[in-house]
Amino acid sequence: MTAQPPVAAEPAPAAEDIDCEQALALLYDYLKRETGPELEQRLRTHLERCRPCFRSAQFERNFVALVAGKAASQHCPDQVRAKVLTALRRELHAELDPPAPTA
Ligand SMILES: [Zn+2]
Repeated sequence: MTAQPPVAAEPAPAAEDIDCEQALALLYDYLKRETGPELEQRLRTHLERCRPCFRSAQFERNFVALVAGKAASQHCPDQVRAKVLTALRRELHAELDPPAPTA
């Protein structure tokens, strides 16, 4: 009989990490500082490692500031804002993270 190594209950070592999808979902709340310190730290960690998300964060920060400025005089519907942000995220990721390498 050979001794078997104990099976880890949680195989994922990086349980603290969040993926791009989670990061982008959190991004808007993060920019509004509504995520709380723990999530904010996780998101920051991801942004430090992930260039597309970092670019998205930079862009969205400007966008949020812009919307906030305009919202003072005219209301910007959430649906419009969500559409714009979704389109921007796709563009940034497509630009920086091509789906397939050129063969
Ligand atoms: Zn990412």
